[in-house]
Amino acid sequence: MAEQQVESQIDVLSCVQPTAQLHIGNYFGAVANWVALQDQYRCAYGIVDLHAMTMPYEAEDLRRNTRAMFADLLACGIDPQRSVLFAQSLVPEHTELYWILGSLCSYGDLSRMTQFKDKSELIGERGGKFVTAGLFTYPVLQAADILVYRSKFVPVGKDQEQHLELTRGLAHRFNERFGRIFHLPRPLFTETPKVMSLADPTKKMSKSLGDKHFVGLFEEEASLRAKVKTAVTDSGAPPEGMEVSPGVNNLLEILKACGQGDEAAQMLEEYKAGSLKYSLLKGAVADALVELTSGLRERRREILEGADLDRALAQHSARARQLAAATMERVRPAVGIPQA
Ligand code: AMP
Repeated sequence: MAEQQVESQIDVLSCVQPTAQLHIGNYFGAVANWVALQDQYRCAYGIVDLHAMTMPYEAEDLRRNTRAMFADLLACGIDPQRSVLFAQSLVPEHTELYWILGSLCSYGDLSRMTQFKDKSELIGERGGKFVTAGLFTYPVLQAADILVYRSKFVPVGKDQEQHLELTRGLAHRFNERFGRIFHLPRPLFTETPKVMSLADPTKKMSKSLGDKHFVGLFEEEASLRAKVKTAVTDSGAPPEGMEVSPGVNNLLEILKACGQGDEAAQMLEEYKAGSLKYSLLKGAVADALVELTSGLRERRREILEGADLDRALAQHSARARQLAAATMERVRPAVGIPQA
């Protein structure tokens, strides 16, 4: 039999867990990049609600957060006319392929995943004892998320590189054994800023650090300004080996990410000359963030008040399902199970 053509259906696939609230780190580090990639590639973006079940959670929160994440992504500029936007649970082919890939993946493969170790430790630190099998096999579902669309690229951060390697390994193993169906997805490295906590700029901005550490992407102006005003800048000289203190550097990076690169460059010069007034830097950062977030907040409000979101999410997910179903129609006979 002639070797099957391995065609791809999607250029870029990326997923986000439905967490309660996006912060500006998620925006500048991930979502803004997704929006930009739409100009260049055929993209598919997934809200991976099934992955969110691997850590302790409440059903009502998951339902609300999935819907909210959908509205958030639309407000940020993910355009379902150009990109495929779906909820993972509405495309059951993900879990079907997950099971098939699971039988190609060894216990040893999964034992080497550092995120499992980190996340199971986190459960322990929070006083929990129950570490789910889902948390252990999570990277196989992630491989299925990518492979079911036969996507070419996955934008990755350092923390996800290991999982992408596993995905490539599973795709290769599958192709060797059952025939070439899967594309081996490659990492897509893009320049995205890493936004640090406002209250402790040596740590990556994250909600889990506490309220004063992050700025929500849809946060009200007053609390946004208050957080920027109390942001840590520095006390004395920059730490050894650094030209700029972590706090000032973070504020300058945020200003740049907001599109105010010239102003940030000028303030950096003033900093080096010892003449930068931090109140002016903070004022500029707060103004830039208010401009960005007030526009996003307005769009989000319109989306939430507008069309039936649940229906829209189901409709968009149906498009994803067509792509995933086409892959599974080739996978099932290859592995020896009947067509659904
Ligand atoms: P998480 O909810 O932490 O998994 O993050 C979702 C996405 O946002 C991932 O692509 C992260 O790399 C990105 N992200 C999270 N926090 C930050 C941050 N402080 N700076 C830049 N990117 C971030």
